[in-house]
Amino acid sequence: MTETAREPARLRMSADGKLQVPENVVLPYIEGDGTGIDIWPAARLVFDAACARNGKRVEWLEVLAGEKAFKETGSWLPEETVQAFTDYLVGIKGPLTTPVGGGIRSLNVALRQILDLYVCLRPVRWFDGVPSPVKHPELVDMVIFRENTEDVYAGLEVQAFTKDAVDLAAFLRERFGWTIGADAGIGVKPISESGSKRLIRAALNYALSHGRKSVTLVHKGNIQKFTEGAFRRWGYDLVKEEFGDRAVSWEDCGGEPGERLLVKDAIADITFQQALTRPSEFDVIATMNLNGDYLSDALAAQVGGIGIAPGGNINYVTGHGLFEATHGTAPKYAGLDRVNPGSVILSGVMMFEYLGWQEVADDIVRALERTIADRVVTYDFARLMDGATEVKCSEFASAIVDRL
Ligand code: NAP
Repeated sequence: MTETAREPARLRMSADGKLQVPENVVLPYIEGDGTGIDIWPAARLVFDAACARNGKRVEWLEVLAGEKAFKETGSWLPEETVQAFTDYLVGIKGPLTTPVGGGIRSLNVALRQILDLYVCLRPVRWFDGVPSPVKHPELVDMVIFRENTEDVYAGLEVQAFTKDAVDLAAFLRERFGWTIGADAGIGVKPISESGSKRLIRAALNYALSHGRKSVTLVHKGNIQKFTEGAFRRWGYDLVKEEFGDRAVSWEDCGGEPGERLLVKDAIADITFQQALTRPSEFDVIATMNLNGDYLSDALAAQVGGIGIAPGGNINYVTGHGLFEATHGTAPKYAGLDRVNPGSVILSGVMMFEYLGWQEVADDIVRALERTIADRVVTYDFARLMDGATEVKCSEFASAIVDRL
């Protein structure tokens, strides 16, 4: 390897849509507010050690968002930060405070929308030793593809008692004959064919490339026929249009897909029941924004992992990816070196997998598994486990590095 080849370089997207990843890559990160100052250094220690073991290196480039950005620049989300994520394609972030009463609804939502990160990816699995409220958490091994840009989260709503609400209600009454109470706020739920298909396409491609057995389309199509029902139909259309040789719907194979990937669907409410009672029947899940929001937290709780659940927001077409801790800033613990850095560490694992650095990702997961199996854990797990050794946030990271 020449010196030049080892110089830090940017990720690039090739003309045929593949990420070009140098061995020494520059990646932007947002430390995060509150406990960000605890979990980010801990996670970075683990990332750097795992990369070094595998001949890789990340040149971390700090960019600002949230309270730290507001204090230093007067902006919650400076233009340079958005530009850095745009230019460097992939990055990672800690939790951010949602400014109350500010112009931005949520910094996380803003970043997802600006970069058109249409997939919210949430893998849910159990780590041996993690306290769980169910008898067989080991049966949960699902990957949720949640649509990130449409549905009620698009933020298309008007407040009750405003002129906008009165005008919209009048239009809906005149044009459609719908009666909406004068004291109602009104929200709009767009679900498009292109938005549904690109999300489901990503889920199918992921399932195929990761050797998964099925993709379940989760929806409320029995009630909301033209939005959630259409999502289901467009999903099955896509299977026929683009994946006919590699995937097949339940209806077309009677549940016997042979070598092909099985695509099925389930109503959202039943999914919550069955994911609890028959978790092994679910594998990859593709769903709209609100269903996915509820489902990912419910499933994370099932494996005891709500404090360590990782997440990623991805646009597979442009290559942009922003990986993030899924919990909030937990301000009462900020600076105490106490909280669990597992969520941001596992988000880093997802990021390394996305970069194709599978060996780095696997090393971290193995070391994390060993650390938890040795019952070396932070306070949140220690309070639920017998015979645990409670360690600080930084000590937990060192324990993982020791087991790499
Ligand atoms: P939170 O920060 O997630 O904290 C709620 C509770 O979750 C904590 O009190 C703690 O429980 C537990 N927890 C959170 N992080 C943990 C960790 N790393 N290790 C162990 N336990 C952890 O939720 P919040 O108090 O509702 O929100 C605080 C701020 O975060 C708000 O400004 C909110 O907008 C923001 N937020 C940001 C994101 C994001 O950036 N992705 C997500 C959610 C919320 P115990 O006290 O029981 O130990």
